[in-house]
Amino acid sequence: MNTYVLSKDHLKNLALELINTGYKVISPSKDGRRFVAISSADDLVINSNLKPSSVSMKEFFFPKTETLFFYKRNKDEYDLIDAAEVNQPQIIFGAKPCDTSAIPIVSKVFNWDYKDEFFNKKVENTIIVGLACKFADENCFCTSVGLSPVSEKGSDLFMIPLTENTYACKVISEKGKKFVSNHSKIFTETIDGKSININEIKIPEKRFESKEVKAWLDKNFNHKLWDKLGENCLGCAQCAFVCPTCHCFDIVDEECNHTCGRRAKNWDACQFEIFTKHASGHNPRNEQDKRYRQRISHKFKYYTEKFDEILCTGCGRCTRGCPVLTDIGIILEDINQLAKESISNN
Ligand code: SF4
Ligand code: SF4
Repeated sequence: MNTYVLSKDHLKNLALELINTGYKVISPSKDGRRFVAISSADDLVINSNLKPSSVSMKEFFFPKTETLFFYKRNKDEYDLIDAAEVNQPQIIFGAKPCDTSAIPIVSKVFNWDYKDEFFNKKVENTIIVGLACKFADENCFCTSVGLSPVSEKGSDLFMIPLTENTYACKVISEKGKKFVSNHSKIFTETIDGKSININEIKIPEKRFESKEVKAWLDKNFNHKLWDKLGENCLGCAQCAFVCPTCHCFDIVDEECNHTCGRRAKNWDACQFEIFTKHASGHNPRNEQDKRYRQRISHKFKYYTEKFDEILCTGCGRCTRGCPVLTDIGIILEDINQLAKESISNN
């Protein structure tokens, strides 16, 4: 598929055109904290050097709270009223590979035994314009989970900086190709994709071997490491809420006057004590060590077994956001070290 050259002015013009034709145009916010829908092309932030936003872009596919349907009492029965369909097309600019790759990863669970059309419709209606990443700090580890700063996974179009003011824009998906042909006034100049020099983008060293981490998790459900990690963890779930791949939710009925209400899908997290509490009062994960073990095991063992994907993109957000400085990268390095020691002891 073609690769185009886009200047910053081209991108601003594109954003303006999209805003004016009814697209929700989404960009990292200027303060770097989140992704936001912008109403002016001047608010478009495309910068490969930026740290990943504090919060991921997942809320544009999987909102914090979402109405599934409304209900209204009608004598002894209830009438169900569909939630208003939101079919607004959206486009996301400036998303790094550790964000874009999360969408195909979590799509597997949202299309497992039940197809979540709320999630799927938003994915269908979205063009993701990925951006090569030139930022790496001590919390990043994308290369340890099979990704890299130039991974195109999850992108419809993928941009690589050429100069301070220009980008190469590769067409990745059929959806991206259709988008480009619908905006052919912007996408005019092509470049040979193979001629792009990506050597300027530093590829961080791997910090751990995810296969070795999984092999250790397979055999160490009751290891004392979990006690130590559980003692430090507050169970606040900040790590889950900032994470691009955490996808747990609860479904609740929110009533008004016992006559009407809505059924809502709300973010939830396995780090909360009541997450697994049964109606009987029994809680199989009644202590924080069990809950932290679940967080790591779900991402590096169970999801891998079920969907052949690691449920982590190495973005480092959970480490940057943890109030007690729990560092998932260091934990995974420690587990890898334990795995190596157990191999050499056998
Ligand atoms: S953010 Fe830190 S303290 Fe809070 S649940 Fe996650 S690991 Fe525990
Ligand atoms: S677990 Fe942490 S490092 Fe991995 S994707 Fe989630 S926030 Fe990023």
